[in-house]
Amino acid sequence: MRNMNYEMTFFICHIENIIWRIRRNTPKDTVDVLSKINGSAKLSPIRFYAPGRAKRWDIGNMKIPVFENDDYRAAAALSMIEKTLEKSIFDRLASEADVLARERGLIFTKGFAAGNPATPNIACTGNVGAARSAPHWPMNAIKQNGEIDCILYINLDAPSGQLASFEVAIHEIGHALGLGDHFKDFGDGRAAAYAFWPVLSQLYQLPIGYKYS
Ligand SMILES: [Zn+2]
Repeated sequence: MRNMNYEMTFFICHIENIIWRIRRNTPKDTVDVLSKINGSAKLSPIRFYAPGRAKRWDIGNMKIPVFENDDYRAAAALSMIEKTLEKSIFDRLASEADVLARERGLIFTKGFAAGNPATPNIACTGNVGAARSAPHWPMNAIKQNGEIDCILYINLDAPSGQLASFEVAIHEIGHALGLGDHFKDFGDGRAAAYAFWPVLSQLYQLPIGYKYS
């Protein structure tokens, strides 16, 4: 992802998010988009699990444990996502070890973004993986019923020092929450723009394991 500075992408992202939350207009094709990028993703690790079904975290019974790593981007992004879903879904824990002990959740790191091996010359400022610097998700990340149930590292900032923008932080959390492949306004065009919000919101209104037609 191209890196714009934090303040600018925070401002733009924030305004777009507020406008969407006021209007809450969900385009007709939103479930179709999800069918492609969540149900039957082609490029992301999600493709290995529950084909044709909705895959996401269970936020009904328990919150998602998170270690924010004192990262202002992570903190602001998580709050924005909770406002969007109109629910407190993250349990902010004090350490990485606390999340590991729960055996499920998200851990933010700084300076360990793993680039795409296919494009080694493009600096990557964010990725989701099984560990620091890991380009792949852990094994058995998603249960047969479609519930995401594992530890995911959200690695922000490149080892070279290039920093992730706020928008990249939102983008990587979007992947971790179940948005597999890119679509318009999610990696296609900007990292996370207006049309990202209804798709994320819709995914968390579908039952886990929902069968896309
Ligand atoms: Zn992406």
